[in-house]
Amino acid sequence: MTDNNDETIVALATPNGIGAIAVIRLSGRDAITIANSVWKGKDLTQQASHTIHFGHIVDGDLILDEVLASLFVAPRSYTRENVVEISCHASGYIIESIIKLFMKKGARSAKPGEFTLRAFLNGQLDLSQAEAVADLIASNSKASQQVALQQLRGGFSTQLQTLREQLVNFASLIELELDFAEEDVEFANRDQLKQLIHDITRIVGRLIQSFELGNAIKQGVNTVIAGRPNAGKSTLLNALLNEERAIVSHIPGTTRDTIEEVLNIQGINFRLIDTAGIREATDAIEQIGVQRTMEKISQSALLIYVFDAELITLNELRTDLDSLLTPGVAMLMVANKMDLLTGEAAKMESIDQFFRTSGLPDYQTTFISAKEKLHIDDLKNKIYSTAIKDQLTGDETLVTNIRHLEALQKTEEALLRVLGGIDGSITSDFLSMDIKQALHYLGEITGAVTTDDLLENIFSKFCIGK
Ligand code: GDP
Repeated sequence: MTDNNDETIVALATPNGIGAIAVIRLSGRDAITIANSVWKGKDLTQQASHTIHFGHIVDGDLILDEVLASLFVAPRSYTRENVVEISCHASGYIIESIIKLFMKKGARSAKPGEFTLRAFLNGQLDLSQAEAVADLIASNSKASQQVALQQLRGGFSTQLQTLREQLVNFASLIELELDFAEEDVEFANRDQLKQLIHDITRIVGRLIQSFELGNAIKQGVNTVIAGRPNAGKSTLLNALLNEERAIVSHIPGTTRDTIEEVLNIQGINFRLIDTAGIREATDAIEQIGVQRTMEKISQSALLIYVFDAELITLNELRTDLDSLLTPGVAMLMVANKMDLLTGEAAKMESIDQFFRTSGLPDYQTTFISAKEKLHIDDLKNKIYSTAIKDQLTGDETLVTNIRHLEALQKTEEALLRVLGGIDGSITSDFLSMDIKQALHYLGEITGAVTTDDLLENIFSKFCIGK
């Protein structure tokens, strides 16, 4: 994606539609002169950066709107180019007229993410920071907003930059050895190199591990609620969401299709999927529902298995466990209708005993009453702690981007080859190649190494005007 910085770009930066105010953004060498050429008010080309001016946008004698113009003179702007932001009245007609007028005067309409692309190309942001801009815009919970902000502010970039610099130092020493190949010297102390690679591999490994949490924060945790018909799944869903959402009914098997709702627990979004139940299907529609349940479970991170604590038998529990247990999907047992079990301590004990001895690694049985809203908060805490094993401290660097994860994994592979190489007393030229590979992949994350395809891929997903 080669960019022509001579061109001045224009786009609406606020959402389409009627509103109090819309912001139209111009960026490029001629941004200020273009704005000034359709401006009635103070001469914009003579004003200081970071000032706001009241005036009119005019097409010849015709006044299009009364607006405010915010000036950012290069390089003190988001794109590091001249930028003018026009705050006009948000009528579709006015917006379109002003943008067309700017285009008539030489601006062209911006491609998705082009302002941020320019910010990257002009060195204002590195690539992972540019991606954080998109994440920040898409953030929908406190945790996802915090992680994106941390990345935007360069926490991740600084960490990678330090790793790269250390590697670059060693790579250059090894290069030097190549120049003196005949003389069999070692400028790069192998023990030190080994220690360094160990340290870097450990940090890279930690970043790779953080993806599970980072991804949960960014995308939400897919959570399936499954169980026999009438176990109380819909009632539980409502209790969790604290409002009447799913249709609750007395007829077994009426929650035919899956319903998705988002529950926020301590800043993490859980995408709750209520399902059609796991009873053996008696008709075709139900059959599809059961299949879907199993499919949904396999695509989830967490399964909340709800059963009727009063009616269920231990045999039925065993059958359900056998059919629901899915590798890689954490499972939470929820014994519902505990209000009907008052005085039946024996039943509760036998259920608890069953799970304790069922050979499950991390069994968790929570007794609740969905209808009476008993122990719902306790269940929410368990949902959180089952899905989110690492606690959030707020300032850690988390990998949230699959592209970064893949680059880190490739970095790790290259680093392990370097370690193997040192142990196997491999020659400097091979060591040098593997170190360069590691550097390459680290550089892909921050954009020190890019290709047009990569940039195209990243920025085309942005909205226009960003
Ligand atoms: P689903 O088929 O699993 O979705 O079950 P529903 O949520 O539709 O509930 C089936 C029936 O059990 C309804 O009549 C609910 O009112 C009732 N129910 C659900 N939870 C409880 C509970 O905690 N206690 C009692 N007593 N009844 C409940």
